[in-house]
Amino acid sequence: MLSDKFNKKYGNFGFRLDAMGIGDNIIKLKGELPEGVELVAVSKTYPSEDILEAYEAGQRVFGESRPQEMKAKHGELPGDIRWHMIGHLQTNKVKYIAPFVELVHSVDSDRLLAEIDRQAVRCGRTIDVLLEVHIAREESKHGWDAEELKAYMAAGSAAAYGNVRLRGLMGIATYTEDAEQVRGEFTRLRELFDRFCANGCGPRFDTLSMGMTGDYRLAVECGSNMVRIGSLIFGERDYA
Ligand SMILES: *Cc1c(COP(=O)(O)O)cnc(C)c1O
Repeated sequence: MLSDKFNKKYGNFGFRLDAMGIGDNIIKLKGELPEGVELVAVSKTYPSEDILEAYEAGQRVFGESRPQEMKAKHGELPGDIRWHMIGHLQTNKVKYIAPFVELVHSVDSDRLLAEIDRQAVRCGRTIDVLLEVHIAREESKHGWDAEELKAYMAAGSAAAYGNVRLRGLMGIATYTEDAEQVRGEFTRLRELFDRFCANGCGPRFDTLSMGMTGDYRLAVECGSNMVRIGSLIFGERDYA
């Protein structure tokens, strides 16, 4: 059952989550997203059975925000699932996910990038990462300040890390009903992404991760090619 709080928060999508299964939600979303936009099904806090339901509907990319939870689920679910770390990552926890993670969306410091590189070397692999940019009004959200990141990229320091590959940018917009505010934030991130692409970040710098349940349509309009969607697929999360 959907709570009033959920309906108020996300509005009416024209289909009722409680009347459809997780697999139907996946199929519906995939049908709606334009070609070239990758769906990351955000499964944090949901049990492995829910992930399997999405898997059986064809979903292969899942996003988690806690390293130990991701490691545990990776251990018990099919091996062809591609795991994305989307939440704030502490350096001392990189080791849990380094052997298998496909993409880390939330790299917010040189220190974290260095540790991902170190763990990637240890595992004999290369790990793809996105740099998280702080675009929201809220102060609590993580990520690089855009000016800081421009300076960091211009300095080329990341090139020293041979086992990480910079694949693009990620951002979380302000949680608000003000669509123009959100559009402005996504647009600024898109412009930053374009600027880095133009400055020769290489052919693999191709991923712009923005958009969640409440704002993914706006994000896609603004040029996102990777959306991270949880509650619209799995139902409202219970953090308690
Ligand atoms: C939880 C989370 C999401 C998914 O949020 P929904 O609103 O449930 O779609 C997306 N991105 C990040 C970084 C998250 O932590």
